[in-house]
Amino acid sequence: MPASITGLLRPDIAALEPYTPIVPLETLAERLGLPVERIIKLDANENPYGPSPRALAALAAVERDTPHRYAIYPDPDHTRLRVALSRYIGQPPERIICGAGSDELIDLIMRATLRPGDAMIDCPPTFAMYSFDAALYGARVIPVPRTDQFDVDVEGVAEAVEREGAKLLFLAAPNNPTGTPLARATVERLLDLPIILAIDEAYAEFAGTSVVDLAGVRPNLVVLRTFSKWAGLAGLRIGYAAMHEDVSAYLWKIKQPYNVNVAAEVAAIASLDDLDERMTTVARIVTERDRLAVALAALPGVHVYPSAANFLLCRIAGGAARARAIRDSLAQRGILIRYFNRPELDDCIRISVGRPEQNDVLLRVLKEVA
Ligand code: PMP
Repeated sequence: MPASITGLLRPDIAALEPYTPIVPLETLAERLGLPVERIIKLDANENPYGPSPRALAALAAVERDTPHRYAIYPDPDHTRLRVALSRYIGQPPERIICGAGSDELIDLIMRATLRPGDAMIDCPPTFAMYSFDAALYGARVIPVPRTDQFDVDVEGVAEAVEREGAKLLFLAAPNNPTGTPLARATVERLLDLPIILAIDEAYAEFAGTSVVDLAGVRPNLVVLRTFSKWAGLAGLRIGYAAMHEDVSAYLWKIKQPYNVNVAAEVAAIASLDDLDERMTTVARIVTERDRLAVALAALPGVHVYPSAANFLLCRIAGGAARARAIRDSLAQRGILIRYFNRPELDDCIRISVGRPEQNDVLLRVLKEVA
């Protein structure tokens, strides 16, 4: 491109390391020369059981029962969904804001807090979107690495907040990609710091614990949730956050008016209406996670970290080359898992928990290749 045009674009974006999302299933299947149905997808912590039956039925009924519903803009206030969520999380609707996946809410929170030069604390290894998004706003990302067992270094965070005058900290609870839970006492201690603390509970349903009850009670707490994992709606992009009204007022002011689409709102409400089915599915995944963890740990040279989420992080004896080779051998057989090309995790693989029969195939193949 001519320099006259690149000169109009932001040089800091040109210098930014891109975030690497998951490759679409069809593209991968084509690359591997396998039909899509043959692929066992354990690379993105999605729900191997798909959406709830009521969510699917509600989606199928939209155009039949309310013609042209898709031709009309969605509710910018997400009123019905927030009322349904209020019952689910025990917080008033005024404290809830919805987004196109929690990714959008991560971005909104940063847009509302970070100006160029402001500091945000990041606790790697963790969800890479936090540091990526913060860099996009010209923030200084201050890393406070986790301990050997991936716990948050609370004293290190407190020190960095003071030293750097940091405004914001994102913590995934349980953490992705490590699966590490976050103790409530740690959250309470961090809430005493002069920062906005965003607790990302994308996997909370699998952990069975949450600090969402503290949202609004502790004004500097934002709790993020999503329908992508427990509800199996990753493809529809729907998440939400709970926080004190004074903070959410900022997000309401700057959010795109129609950020949650009609189908996403319909499916999310129907999922909340099908909680028994959904929680049975969650329990099945948790049982499978624990079975898979034991079976993986029995493989030679595989160390499995304890996980409270729907995935397992494994460290592979033999280092990065071996971890990559395992990822590649599995892919050749149509089994997709996640490898992280980052120094602190380059000898690790992350496996999302699949259905029992999928996990059995994975274990069988791993015994051959690991
Ligand atoms: N937070 C964490 C910790 C995640 O792992 C993910 C998904 N990988 C997200 C947020 C984004 O989820 P969503 O699909 O709701 O945007």
